[in-house]
Amino acid sequence: MKLFPQSLRWTLQLWHGLLLFLVVTGLLAAFYSVEREQAWIRLDRQLQRWSPRISDAFHQQRARAFNSSPDSWKTNWLQELDLQADLAPFFEPEGDTKAYYAIWDPRGNILTFSASAPFPIPFPRRDRSSSRFRTRDNHREFHHILPEGTTVLVGLPLAPHETRFQSLGLKLIGIGTSVLALSLLGGWWIISRSLRPIAHISSTAQAISQGKLQERIPIKVTESELGQLSQTLNDTFRQLENAFAQQVRFTGDASHELRTPISIIRSKTQLTLSRDRSVAEYREALELCQRNAERMGDLVESLLELARIDSGEARITPTNFDLIQVAKAARELVLPLANESEIKIQLPQGSCAVLGVPGWTQQVISNLLINAIRYCPGSHSITMTLEENKATAALHVVDAGPGIPPEDLEHIFERFFRVDKARARNQGGSGLGLAICKALMEAQNGAIKAKSEWGKGSQFTLRLPLCDPPREEKTTS
Ligand code: ADP
Repeated sequence: MKLFPQSLRWTLQLWHGLLLFLVVTGLLAAFYSVEREQAWIRLDRQLQRWSPRISDAFHQQRARAFNSSPDSWKTNWLQELDLQADLAPFFEPEGDTKAYYAIWDPRGNILTFSASAPFPIPFPRRDRSSSRFRTRDNHREFHHILPEGTTVLVGLPLAPHETRFQSLGLKLIGIGTSVLALSLLGGWWIISRSLRPIAHISSTAQAISQGKLQERIPIKVTESELGQLSQTLNDTFRQLENAFAQQVRFTGDASHELRTPISIIRSKTQLTLSRDRSVAEYREALELCQRNAERMGDLVESLLELARIDSGEARITPTNFDLIQVAKAARELVLPLANESEIKIQLPQGSCAVLGVPGWTQQVISNLLINAIRYCPGSHSITMTLEENKATAALHVVDAGPGIPPEDLEHIFERFFRVDKARARNQGGSGLGLAICKALMEAQNGAIKAKSEWGKGSQFTLRLPLCDPPREEKTTS
């Protein structure tokens, strides 16, 4: 068993409770001890105030006894003191305070004491100081030695005082417990409220891991830290869902694309083998199978290439190269096809040094040229132009073909997207050419975009960073 709870809620509550207990107990204990000390001081001051008044009453009473009977005053006057009206109630044996006094002659013989005095009262120890406090048998006493040697002692029982402090202690324990309980409840509520988004995050992540990819974390407060985290996680979940959907679509499209040539081959071979055929018929059947096998081969090649780019396996370090030279090489590659369709391909002049992968760029340009030849029947020329700005170079491949419908333009770089499916398939297209171009451009820090005017032609633009210009060496003249 673990000593501390693993749950965040309980850990926070435990620390919060512990700190709160220490603070509340510390504060109440400090209050109790200050209050007790103050009460002692008040008690001692009271005894100090009463002491001279008791001495005065003693002197007056002794003087009266002496004046009335000078011969026998020593024995006659020994009786309780006649205290002033405001003082007397404190010294009543039945009163609340139950204060008492006792007076001794210099030899330690008791002269007088109050009826409330708790006898026996030991004669106070006499030392150099003429007045002193002492605590004895739950009584607080103050004695004072008068100049002629008489000792006057005033005392108070501590029992009522202690009872008061016991009840104060109990009250403080009650207050402390209530404050602690309320704060713990409040803390529990605040912690539960603050941790609620974490519970939502966890249940959403659990649902997503079980395949409910459309689940999202409900967010009430977007400004809080957990709100921001939930927002970020929701964005990630959205991207995951999109990627997953794309993956599913891609797999479906790929199998569909492969299924078509396979079923053509299957049905053609079945049909051809169902009876004896002439050589020409066998040839025609074999040629159809070959075309479809080639189509499947191209498709698999394209899929493998995309997979390689996606996984980063095909990553190559970019180098500096001349974009115009690469465009020229791409044109050489597609020239037989262009000649067949009597299309002229115009190139920009000069040179332009860019940073990228020349092999990939050449593949992208030839792909764009093949598309322009393939999808633009009746067009007579394809023009390549160059545009440079501070940081990048853009190569435009412009044709005067039929163009791309505006609603399709944003999809043409998607995998397996074709504007006219049947026609494109007949022309050998798999809908992966532009997707591969985009992946290749992005893998070399470049970009590819398309613009088109329906019925007037299209413009594909590939953009690459210009290579760093050589630093000018400083010359001194
Ligand atoms: P495919 O391999 O089928 O040619 P791409 O990804 O290269 O696929 O092209 C996607 C679609 O974009 C094509 O089916 C075609 O309809 C359209 N397209 C591409 N280039 C052009 C162009 N220059 N003019 C008109 N349509 C084009």
